[in-house]
Amino acid sequence: MTTFSREEVAPERWRDWTWQMRHRVRSAADLERFVAPTDDERAAIAALSDRFHFVITPYYAQLMDPLDPDCPIRRQVVPRLAEERDPAGLADPLDEVAHSPVKNVIRVYADRIAFCVNNECALYCRFCLRKRMVGDEEWTMKKRELEVALDWIAGTPAIRDVLLTGGDPLVFSDERLEWLLSRLCEIPHVELVRLGTRLPVTLPFRVTDDLCRMLERFHPLFVNTHFNHPRELTPEAAEACDRLARAGIPVGNQSVLLRGVNDDPGTMKALCEGLLRLRVRPYYCYQAQLLEGTAHFRVPIERGVELFRALRGRTSGFAIPQYVLDTPHGKVPLSYPFLRGREGDSVVVETYEGKLWKELNPRDA
Ligand code: SF4
Repeated sequence: MTTFSREEVAPERWRDWTWQMRHRVRSAADLERFVAPTDDERAAIAALSDRFHFVITPYYAQLMDPLDPDCPIRRQVVPRLAEERDPAGLADPLDEVAHSPVKNVIRVYADRIAFCVNNECALYCRFCLRKRMVGDEEWTMKKRELEVALDWIAGTPAIRDVLLTGGDPLVFSDERLEWLLSRLCEIPHVELVRLGTRLPVTLPFRVTDDLCRMLERFHPLFVNTHFNHPRELTPEAAEACDRLARAGIPVGNQSVLLRGVNDDPGTMKALCEGLLRLRVRPYYCYQAQLLEGTAHFRVPIERGVELFRALRGRTSGFAIPQYVLDTPHGKVPLSYPFLRGREGDSVVVETYEGKLWKELNPRDA
């Protein structure tokens, strides 16, 4: 079905998330309704969209700058030929397949799992860690396969924390999600459920009052969403986050550090401060993985460390997410070493302004 720009559609249809899903951008011709595609973008759509799906919601497409191919929104979702130049990139850099006791359950830690319940998203981000599986039929979870995973969780008493991810669990209908949450809540050792979803960013109309009324029956429930750039903090996204907050759902943000999108302190600060205005807590910022087709997005880790050091002392402490590297063995915080060393009975620390301070180090009794 062909897509339409905002001006061509009645407001109530535009705000209907199912309409948005049915009218997504899927080709260079569709993209022309929103931007003037470059030759590189056209060639990349033709060459790459079979390897990794090219789909954008009309809502997100209208956030793109029509004339600037380096627009940070456009960079995230429109293919570029640069994706072909990545000799170091891997299909599964976190070795998730090896960490799966049953299909689409990833267990890296003893007490929690990522449960990839759905292989579909509203759009496909070019830097997606799970690009090997999202949008691919092979990874679709049939109800019977969801049951197998639920049985595994029920039979594994160490699991107290379940992250529903994908793909995107909010692409499910309310009924399917309610069924899944009910089944999880029946398992006595599952203490909390988290939803990992980018829909407040890419399709905020999905966060309806009906959905929130259903979700609030399953507390403690947390949502982690994924804003990467301040331009994504639209009134519609604010409305979605507000609905979740009013349903008592704490919302956190997990961004990815992306070259040309958010890899400068000013943009990251604007993003994090804007998130707090929406009552969304910046939680993690991930170092982009060594993932196939993403060399043009990756930033040297030292530069990432300096970026977050530059924020320290210059905005509220809780506006600063933890910069982390995910590895097959768990997340590793990447932080500037403010603890500089020892002098006698004291430790030497560095303040955010670069001054050294000596503090007497308490001894264990
Ligand atoms: S929304 Fe999330 S899971 Fe879906 S393509 Fe983007 S990064 Fe991947």
